[in-house]
Amino acid sequence: MAYIKINKKNFFHNLNQFALKTGSVDKIAIVLKDNAYGHGLVLMAKLASEYGIKQAVVITTTEAEQIRDYFEHILVLNGKPFEDDKLSFTIADMRTLKSIDCKAEIELKVDTGMHRNGISMDELGEALETIETKELNLVGVMTHFRSADVLSSELFWQQKSFAKVKSIVLDAGYANVRFHSHNSAGVLRSTLFDEDIARVGIGSYGYNELPEVYDDIVLKPVISLWAKRASTRVLKKGDRVGYGGDFVAPREMVVSTYDLGYGDGWIRGNSKNPYITAENLPILGRVSMDFLSLETDVDEVCIMDDAKMAAKYFDTISYEMTTMLSVSLDRIVV
Ligand SMILES: *Cc1c(COP(=O)(O)O)cnc(C)c1O
Repeated sequence: MAYIKINKKNFFHNLNQFALKTGSVDKIAIVLKDNAYGHGLVLMAKLASEYGIKQAVVITTTEAEQIRDYFEHILVLNGKPFEDDKLSFTIADMRTLKSIDCKAEIELKVDTGMHRNGISMDELGEALETIETKELNLVGVMTHFRSADVLSSELFWQQKSFAKVKSIVLDAGYANVRFHSHNSAGVLRSTLFDEDIARVGIGSYGYNELPEVYDDIVLKPVISLWAKRASTRVLKKGDRVGYGGDFVAPREMVVSTYDLGYGDGWIRGNSKNPYITAENLPILGRVSMDFLSLETDVDEVCIMDDAKMAAKYFDTISYEMTTMLSVSLDRIVV
């Protein structure tokens, strides 16, 4: 079966960069949502914990349960709050806030401009009153930047708004809540990181999605995708390969089929403008559900070792290339 190699050294290298930028490994909350961006939830939790990271961020309570032993604290971004000594829950709208009827640890998400999740700045006063009257257990206040990875001043007005949020929350007497707003791009762009934690996802997996002007920190891809040879044949000039016969052999050639396809989370793409593998082999013809064809007969090929570069072929981003990779692929640490 096609499989994934996880490069531990590169992962630790990336975490080093974030520890340097934030000032401490204790400030990194590693984002492990969506099967750790396709890298493998439990595997990456183990490695992060081995590195010394104590905090994680996931979407669901189910994800949190799978990795709870590896961390001191886990933030759940989208789950129904309940009392638990390790978990806190993001509250992103007034309706949910008003419905809480327990002492679960909650972190209020404030919308400072992304307009996807979070209570609005106008609702902040009401939210704090609700928390006070219901005696809810507020432990954090957070926001998310909509364009930390875009070259513009937008990040700064969102940061300004969040500074205002902080002062309102502190003025209301919540001295012990933690504040956090940075994702990977936010950390990479900041010159003076002074928040309690940073929620670091894509950067820890080795991708800097910032424009090149901010590209001074070298991150190294953690994932590489490998496929194994299923069968080999010799094609004559004019023979066609795969569904629709899109590829026509221009000469006699040795072609093998490898066990990776869109059923494994690899993008089918466009055979007229083929993806070229890490080892410089263009995919011949259409990708099938479980197989693709290459001109070689080696037993194993590296299909991708840099998701950001691969993403360019498919007009997408590194996040999607890795996150789509099937949970059922084997993942080994090298
Ligand atoms: C996914 C996510 C992150 C991590 O973002 P990266 O760009 O991968 O570092 C941080 N915060 C929230 C709320 C997220 O949903």
